[in-house]
Amino acid sequence: MFIGHFALGFAAKRAAPTISLALLFTACQLADILWPVFVAAGLESVRIAPGITAFTPLDFVSYPYSHSLVALCLWGALLGSACWLFGAGARASLLVAALVLSHWLLDFVSHRPDMPIYPGGALWGLGLWNSVSATLIVELLLFGTGLWVYARATRARDSVGRWSFAGLVAFLLIAYFANVAGGPPPSVTAIYVAGIAGALLLIAWSWWTDRHRQPI
Ligand SMILES: [Zn+2]
Repeated sequence: MFIGHFALGFAAKRAAPTISLALLFTACQLADILWPVFVAAGLESVRIAPGITAFTPLDFVSYPYSHSLVALCLWGALLGSACWLFGAGARASLLVAALVLSHWLLDFVSHRPDMPIYPGGALWGLGLWNSVSATLIVELLLFGTGLWVYARATRARDSVGRWSFAGLVAFLLIAYFANVAGGPPPSVTAIYVAGIAGALLLIAWSWWTDRHRQPI
């Protein structure tokens, strides 16, 4: 799943108005932020295999440290604890931890059975990605709902808050549809370079957008 994760980050702003959208995005996407780093480091591996699912040509050969249920429980506990130590409050910190874990649930729905419960353990996945149209319906509905919640929970302080938000949404949608319509990536290196650069850009962009908006 891709923009479905961001939907939860947007929606979480309503429950935790003091937490920056950048941190909410980091939480719901932590698995996909760590993954390209671990692939680059040789700890996890991916293969380009066109046709492996209808939606993506990526074969997630091994990603126990970024995408297993147990690892995400630990990453969630770590990020949630860090938030708590930095004064985020128990409720917001728990929400951040839950967002980290939500990545596993959404990926479990999307992926073919390649999602580990724990490193080396059984692989699960409901395979929504076997249908492009079903994937689009589920993700766009989720994304639309998340956006609606965020847009109602915050308002722009200035024109930056309005246009940066619109640009962020447009960027996510364009990146999503380019992924759907484009061919397979040229190499594994291209995958992790784009993954790391995209994550950094989205964290910076969401931080900037959120600073120019305020909770209602
Ligand atoms: Zn993922």
